[in-house]
Amino acid sequence: MKIKENDTVFIMSGKYRGKRGKVLISFPKEKKILVEGINIIKKHQKPKKEGQKGQIVEMPKPIHVSCAKLVCPKCSQPTRVGYKISEKKKYRICKKCGQAI
Ligand SMILES: [Zn+2]
Repeated sequence: MKIKENDTVFIMSGKYRGKRGKVLISFPKEKKILVEGINIIKKHQKPKKEGQKGQIVEMPKPIHVSCAKLVCPKCSQPTRVGYKISEKKKYRICKKCGQAI
């Protein structure tokens, strides 16, 4: 996947369009990412003990990577990611400023 954990992403669609957030967890198999503060769902939690009140818990739900664009840490623009392969490793480059990210 082009987007990894700890990357900052720019959300391109849905209710959170235009927002940025940090990738907390990536799920390469599902091509999904969990982004801090994005796609929050409210879950009603039933009381665990008698006499306790139920709570509403807010938690982020993973979104598909195609809904997000990587924000380049060098030029801070949402960008497409390219790859460059040097002798030993493959690294990502920003298509806007050309720097390795
Ligand atoms: Zn850049």
